[in-house]
Amino acid sequence: MAERRTDSVWLEEVAGHKDAVVVPVWRTHNLIDDLTGKPKAIGLSMGSISDIVDDTSHLVFLGYRGQVPYFTIDLSHMDEPSELPPLKGSGQFTDIRNIGLDLPKEDGGLLAYSRAIAQWHKTHKFCSRCGSPTVPRDGGHMRQCTNPDCNTQHFPRTDMAVIMLVSSGDKIVMGRKKDWAEDRFSILAGFVEPGETLEGAVAREVMEEVGIPVTNINYHSSQPWPFPSNLMLGFFAEAESEEINIQDDELAEARWFSREELIDEAREYAQKPHSVSIARRLISEWALGTGF
Ligand SMILES: [Zn+2]
Repeated sequence: MAERRTDSVWLEEVAGHKDAVVVPVWRTHNLIDDLTGKPKAIGLSMGSISDIVDDTSHLVFLGYRGQVPYFTIDLSHMDEPSELPPLKGSGQFTDIRNIGLDLPKEDGGLLAYSRAIAQWHKTHKFCSRCGSPTVPRDGGHMRQCTNPDCNTQHFPRTDMAVIMLVSSGDKIVMGRKKDWAEDRFSILAGFVEPGETLEGAVAREVMEEVGIPVTNINYHSSQPWPFPSNLMLGFFAEAESEEINIQDDELAEARWFSREELIDEAREYAQKPHSVSIARRLISEWALGTGF
């Protein structure tokens, strides 16, 4: 509904919709129903939100799910909102970083969206140009500087990161960070720098981390990573050398893994493609030969 959210009269009508749902965020955590062992998002009615929040001007309009308008609100200023009557017993505020892959697919997207935008509001209360306070506009999708001489509009931002599966024939390279368990390895990843193409970022990151030049860099798919506001872009790339030369202080080790070593895991991931991270998805598709 991006095309309508600049219309404040329409937005007010939508907020008054009898079925409008508010997905609350509290200190980067989302309200989750985990009583059944299968976590899912909890949406509250607009009425129960007005019972606990005096000022609803910070509601952010997310969009429609079917015929139902969805909003989010940040309750971080409250001590323990889950103890308040409308919320008590309904669920727990939980970090979706820990449970995101167990959520129903639609809930994962919804909660990632609400968390990311709540976090953006929290960290953009002042204009980065002149330092004056900013106020939310357009249903919470823009913040405007209150200094009339400046008036700058600020929009939510997403920082891009690349994650790449680097292969050489029948094996791929994976690294282990210093603070990871001894047996935890993953494919390489890093942030895109200003002025860089995505392919340039892939090549640079692989060189920076393991000293290997790569070629045939091909985009595969993406995954939002709202911790706080990243988008992971997944690539396949081919190594031009197999000599690993760790250049990155954060990496404890890196080594080549054969298809044989990865095939059992890959088959497992292929059973539940929506329940694995983009790293696992790339590994699975490569090992099973379905990723090209
Ligand atoms: Zn300003």
